[in-house]
Amino acid sequence: MKCKSCKKPAIYLNPTLCKNHFSSYIEKKVFSTISKYKLLKISDKIIIAASGGKDSLTLLNILSKKFKVNCIAVDEGIDNYRESTLKTLKAFCRKRKIPLKIVSFKKEFGGKLEVFIIPKQKPCAVCGTLRRYLMNKHSKKFDKICTGHNLDDEAQSVIMNLIRSNTSLNARGGPITGLSSFEGFTQKIKPLYFLKEKEIMTYAFLNNLLDEYIECPNAVLSYRAKVRDLLNDYEEKHPGTKKNIIRFFLKNKPKIYRTILEEKINTCKKCGEPSKGEVCSACGIVNNFKQQFIW
Ligand code: SF4
Ligand code: ZN
Repeated sequence: MKCKSCKKPAIYLNPTLCKNHFSSYIEKKVFSTISKYKLLKISDKIIIAASGGKDSLTLLNILSKKFKVNCIAVDEGIDNYRESTLKTLKAFCRKRKIPLKIVSFKKEFGGKLEVFIIPKQKPCAVCGTLRRYLMNKHSKKFDKICTGHNLDDEAQSVIMNLIRSNTSLNARGGPITGLSSFEGFTQKIKPLYFLKEKEIMTYAFLNNLLDEYIECPNAVLSYRAKVRDLLNDYEEKHPGTKKNIIRFFLKNKPKIYRTILEEKINTCKKCGEPSKGEVCSACGIVNNFKQQFIW
């Protein structure tokens, strides 16, 4: 197969492109998402939430071509995983002179992820809540926090929220969240929103952003992993399924978002961060852990 742009050997099939044209196709797609959805202004103070995996390194690599970026990472203390991804991230940021801040569960909450997980709870549910909390808490002086969510992640989230009838969680969906209108939230944007996971993986390896792909050992236990396998299977049999889910979601997002605006956002009485109830979910988790030591 030959690249449809220059006739050199193609390295990707749909679209059929060579190494160089594939990389510029991906970058153009990201910048056109940014301009179509008005995700960023050149004057914005931007922080990228990174983990050192393929998505965040791709995001850092592309955004730093046009914007001045800062980077934040969370160390949850996950053995045999996080140390290695942070090492890759630190090396990347050092090479590109991107300021990097690392915040850890241990320092912020008093322990590694594992200590906050109660029996029958899935690690990702706890981890996700605590990670989002720290990202928001440490991005206050920035206009936008950019995350590496891709089309696969977003299609999974739509289906997960649908299965669980979690309408309000869909407020986090879409290339830009509208939550800047709530005091205490930094607006979140997702420039990789329309890129497939496979495209990002290919881009990351072609551009030498990472040497090996490692997945968090907890990922297989998650509800998301089940939905991911289901959607991958469906996509193979019915190509375009994930795109259609996203298309449907974006069409209906304004209606979903209206219901969110009607929900009251409070301030957590323990930490002062935004919260639906009197105490935020992160303080709830940390409190459960501390209770074990009170006799
Ligand atoms: Fe945390 Fe789950 Fe992501 Fe691992 S896969 S970093 S446990 S949210
Ligand atoms: Zn709190």
